[in-house]
Amino acid sequence: MAKKVGIISLGCPKNLVETENLLPSLKRLYTQDLREAQVVIINTCGFIESAKLESIEKAFEMLERGKEVILTGCLVQRYERELKEEFKEVLVFKSKEELLKYLGLKDLGGREITTPKSYAYLKIGEGCSRRCSFCAIPNFKGKHRSRKMEEIVEEAKLLFDLGYKEVVLVSQDTTFYGKDLYGDFKLYDLVKEVCKLGFYRVRLLYLYPTEVPRILKAFKEFENLVPYFDIPIQHISDKILKSMRRGYDESFIRKLFERILKEVEGATIRSSLIVGYPSETEGDFKKLLKFMDEKYVRYWGIFKYSREEGTHAYSLKGQIPKKVKEEREAILIEKAQRILEEFNSKEVGKEYEVLIDQVKGDEIYARTPFSAPEIDTLVQVQTKRSLRVGEVVKVKITGVLGGDLIGVC
Ligand code: SF4
Repeated sequence: MAKKVGIISLGCPKNLVETENLLPSLKRLYTQDLREAQVVIINTCGFIESAKLESIEKAFEMLERGKEVILTGCLVQRYERELKEEFKEVLVFKSKEELLKYLGLKDLGGREITTPKSYAYLKIGEGCSRRCSFCAIPNFKGKHRSRKMEEIVEEAKLLFDLGYKEVVLVSQDTTFYGKDLYGDFKLYDLVKEVCKLGFYRVRLLYLYPTEVPRILKAFKEFENLVPYFDIPIQHISDKILKSMRRGYDESFIRKLFERILKEVEGATIRSSLIVGYPSETEGDFKKLLKFMDEKYVRYWGIFKYSREEGTHAYSLKGQIPKKVKEEREAILIEKAQRILEEFNSKEVGKEYEVLIDQVKGDEIYARTPFSAPEIDTLVQVQTKRSLRVGEVVKVKITGVLGGDLIGVC
């Protein structure tokens, strides 16, 4: 009898889409229940140290549970040779073709969506053409390759016809869309086409700061494009930003954020910071704290600097001791949590249209326009009505549950 195959998808939404692209070909072998799987494919993340560790730990956990383990995804793209040499207990496949060949399956193409009916991700490109000093992604993902606009719009139409309410456009550097393929930035044109299809919400993730002004008008023109700005800034000290090779400074970010909040009604900003980058002084760190306190940003992702082989920053002098990095990281995480709670407390009494993401008996969770799936604030909906995933309802916010909200309808 053919072996049953389970999948664990780690990392970001882009990786989830890769997993979803694999599912149709596995069809008859695939099981959602890892207990009955003899083979477990781990679609790994190889971005930073903590993600690499998680991938390896998962592999060991599955081996201990007696599974045959297959590693694929980013960690393999980055460390194929090392994994093959040093981790002989697992199988390692860099490409979908190799993996399917091993399982004796044909590549049937297509995609099986695993997210609830309320949202689906849509990948618009792969790789990254920037050269941020700390980032290994371009080394193993290659330069940015945009998908053809017709192909993306066709997939978006399919998602719309299947009843997905929110479509979330993702890639390593979403704002770069089109530059490689059409010689010019084409995100505005793409968003226009996707918005036209009639989704309840269209959302963009991973906007590179310097390119945001190009796309700003889309947020004013297209009603179903949610005013959600996911703009990783990584630091605010000019000295560190320069070393990071990000191509902007504090004054640019400040002006950009002010402009967004002034010009786009209901705008919410999410951003991320890397703390403990080489040569970060106490003074640079304090600048981060001060900038966070200015409250342009509702959601902060905090990452401890991870020294990645093959990057420019790897060999920089002034690497920060682990203990200092961890202390600084903990302070920023705490601050980020407090800021979010402050933002949330201001929502009490307001009314929002929310999109239901999850219904489990009495527990109903939904999202406002200012929340992206899986990472941001959820609204716990209290109601006597029977609601379905993908439904849109109006709620009144009545309370705060830390990072989440309570809404009544
Ligand atoms: S924009 Fe910079 S941080 Fe983001 S994937 Fe590209 S190189 Fe890495």
